[in-house]
Amino acid sequence: MKPIVAIVGRPNVGKSTLFNRLIGERRAIIEDQPGITRDRIYGDAQWAGRRFTVVDTGGLQSGPEGELEEAVVRQAELAIREADVVVFLVDVRQGVQPDDHEVAQRLRRARKPVILAVNKVENLKHEDAAGEFYELGLGDLVTISALHGTGTGDLLDRVVRLLPPPGAGEEAEEDPSLIKVAVVGRPNVGKSTLVNALAGEERVIVSEVAGTTRDPIDVLVERDGDRFLFIDTAGMRRRSKVEAPVERYSVLRSLRAIDRSDVVLLLVDAREGVTDQDQKIADYTREQGKGAIVVVNKWDLVEKTDRTMQEYTDSVRYQLRFMDYVEVAFLSALTRARLPKLLPQIRMVWENHGRRVPTGPLNECIREAVLLTPPPSEKGRQLKIYYATQPRTRPPGIVLFLNDRELMHFSYARYLENRVRAAFDFRGTPIRWYYRERE
Ligand code: GDP
Ligand code: GDP
Repeated sequence: MKPIVAIVGRPNVGKSTLFNRLIGERRAIIEDQPGITRDRIYGDAQWAGRRFTVVDTGGLQSGPEGELEEAVVRQAELAIREADVVVFLVDVRQGVQPDDHEVAQRLRRARKPVILAVNKVENLKHEDAAGEFYELGLGDLVTISALHGTGTGDLLDRVVRLLPPPGAGEEAEEDPSLIKVAVVGRPNVGKSTLVNALAGEERVIVSEVAGTTRDPIDVLVERDGDRFLFIDTAGMRRRSKVEAPVERYSVLRSLRAIDRSDVVLLLVDAREGVTDQDQKIADYTREQGKGAIVVVNKWDLVEKTDRTMQEYTDSVRYQLRFMDYVEVAFLSALTRARLPKLLPQIRMVWENHGRRVPTGPLNECIREAVLLTPPPSEKGRQLKIYYATQPRTRPPGIVLFLNDRELMHFSYARYLENRVRAAFDFRGTPIRWYYRERE
């Protein structure tokens, strides 16, 4: 579980500039949320050996009278609820504004660690002026320029000092035989129905592993000696009752559940298929090296011929062509049609995700592949592959020793991966390749 750091503050103080600086080159995930005036953005950051998720709580455009203040306050409250550390950003050039006081007051009440960061400080005059923000009553402050990057190292030092200790609340996940499953997908695709159906049908022990302040609820399902942990089902169960602000964090919750899992079930509604949002989540799943199954739910609502399933599978694979190893399942969580196939399929992907191919057979496979289709040469230079070994699992990681990594082209890498997949069962899991040069 990665800790969360939220950036809050009025519009134009520099939140997205700071966000971009903190996550560097990493990709942001953007959540489109109706009712919030701008996309909310999540990204991974790393500092002093700690990894955490940064949330840019978004800028808010001024609307009709009063709306702005209310919106700022709501943003702050959302962020406070989920965050481990809040960075409250203000603008030295605008000085202390009434909205700043409003936000500061809520932050004080919330008793979450807050760092007051005064932005756009780029000369001595600004340094002096920054002192004015002590009146917000949030204690010490950091002066930064998000634009130029000055002071952001100090800011990150403080953030890291305030993060919860690493690994807290993860005890239940240490058992290597536990099959950790995240169930993600848009609202109403049937996530809760599915988890309830699995828990019910299999006559299982359901235990709730209540944990940290954010109260993730994990459901344990036992079957045939296998133990499946469905991660953070709280978000799913809560939804019908209150359209609570927490619900707006569904994407963030999903990302965190993915982080903790081995296998991700990406649920889609058979009538809608794979959406843009699903593609982004799938891409994140691949980047994090998790096993993946697209579960096409509500299959009962689709008119079928004997070709429907194949055609549907093809279209899912086309939309997710960046993860061509993905497994596709069709079922109805409601009628339970085809449901019994799902747990064995999860188990299969989990096994593949942890598969280690011995060095002998792996080298044999690579050698054969190279004999069959030798690597193309470039300007008289030929790629030579000496040796392969798989030192890593979850996800599987293969190291290739070769003469020059520049000579390894995408299409040839793709070819090798296809050969490895034809020889060994890696269905549902990504494979990571590492190249080591050797003369
Ligand atoms: P947000 O609405 O809080 O996300 O603010 P933005 O990050 O979009 O920044 C608003 C404006 O302030 C943009 O024109 C930025 O280029 C500018 N800005 C942000 N950080 C700094 C800074 O450290 N120094 C200066 N001079 N301008 C900044
Ligand atoms: P969640 O928001 O993803 O947790 O979705 P829910 O599990 O709350 O389901 C949303 C709605 O879809 C509910 O009315 C369910 O009864 C319905 N639903 C879920 N699975 C199926 C299914 O397989 N077939 C049909 N016809 N309806 C389903």
